[in-house]
Amino acid sequence: MSFSSLGLIDTITRTLETLAYTQPTPVQTQAIPAVLAGRDVMAAAQTGTGKTAGFALPLLQRLTMGGVQLAPNSARALVLVPTRELAEQVHASFKAYGAGLPLRTMVAYGGVSINPQMMRLRKGLDLLVATPGRLLDLQRQNALKLDRVEVLVLDEADRMLDLGFSRELDQVFAALPK
Ligand code: AMP
Repeated sequence: MSFSSLGLIDTITRTLETLAYTQPTPVQTQAIPAVLAGRDVMAAAQTGTGKTAGFALPLLQRLTMGGVQLAPNSARALVLVPTRELAEQVHASFKAYGAGLPLRTMVAYGGVSINPQMMRLRKGLDLLVATPGRLLDLQRQNALKLDRVEVLVLDEADRMLDLGFSRELDQVFAALPK
C-alpha cells in the first residue's frame, strides 16, 4: 500500500518521501480515503500509530483542492486539542506535512498574549489548531467567526472531556454552521 494509492496528491506524497514515510500505518490506510471523501470519521488508535497524519494529510489536501478565498477573521478548518503542548505538536505536524502547500495556518492557546493571535486572524486562515478556551476567547472578542468552518477535528476528544471541556465544546458546536 502506498500513500498515492490512498488518493493523496503528488505534492504531499513527495513531502512524505522527504520525511521517510514509506508506507501508511493502519489508521492512516483507513482514515485517509474516508476523510478525502468528506465523510465523518472517528478513529481510536494508540499513541505513536500515526493518527495525526491520518487526519492532517487528507485535510491538507481538501483545503488545497478547495480553492476557496479566505474571509477575514475566519478559519476553514478547526482542529481542537486539549493542551497547549499538543496544539504546538499538531500544528508542527501540519506545517511539516503541508510544506509546499499554499495554506495559511495558525496555532492558538491560552497563557500567552492574545493580541498576536488576533492580528493573524484578520486575514483569515485555512487552518486553526486551538485549545477550546482560547478559541472561545477569540470568538467572544470578535477576532474569530466560526460560520465558515468546513471541517472540524477533535483530537484526543476523550482527554478534552476528561479535562472538563465539555461545556466549551458545546459552545463551539453551537457556533459552527450546521
Ligand atoms: P502520532 O501517532 O501521530 O503521534 O505519530 C507518531 C510518530 O510516527 C510521529 O513521529 C510521526 O512522525 C511518525 N509517523 C506517522 N506516520 C508515519 C508513517 N506512515 N511512516 C513513518 N512514520 C510515521
